[in-house]
Amino acid sequence: MISPGRSWREFPQRYRLEAAKCTSCNKVLYPPRVVCPACKGAEFETVVLLRDGKVVTFTVVRVPPAGFTEQTPLPIALVELMEGVRVMVQVGDLADPEELQIGMPVRLEFRRISWDGEAGLIFYGHKAVKS
Ligand SMILES: [Zn+2]
Repeated sequence: MISPGRSWREFPQRYRLEAAKCTSCNKVLYPPRVVCPACKGAEFETVVLLRDGKVVTFTVVRVPPAGFTEQTPLPIALVELMEGVRVMVQVGDLADPEELQIGMPVRLEFRRISWDGEAGLIFYGHKAVKS
C-alpha cells in the first residue's frame, strides 16, 4: 500500500510521466534514478514519456487489496511504452477483463486509482485504456 506521504511527493512526476534519459547511453529510466543501471552514468535529461504503448503481459486480480474492493475483478497490465519503458498499471474502461490481450495497444491516462473512504484519501495514478 502506498502511504499518503509518498504518494504526495511523487505526484508531479507521476502526473507528467517524466522519465530520466541518460546523456551517455540514451537509456530512458522510469521512474528516474540517480545512477544509470546500464552505463553507471549520473547525468540525465528529463524527458516526458509518450503515453502510447502495448500490453506485454497482464493479470486479473480477483481478491483485491483494501481500497480497490469496488473494482473487482481488477485488471493489471505490464505496459511497454514507445520508449521501451515498462510500467505496471491498472487497466480501466474494460467491459470485461477477458478483453485484455497481450499486444493490445493501450494509452496511459491519469485517473483515480484507489481511495480510502474512512480517511478521505484519494490516490491518483496512471491507468491504461484501450487505444
Ligand atoms: Zn546510461
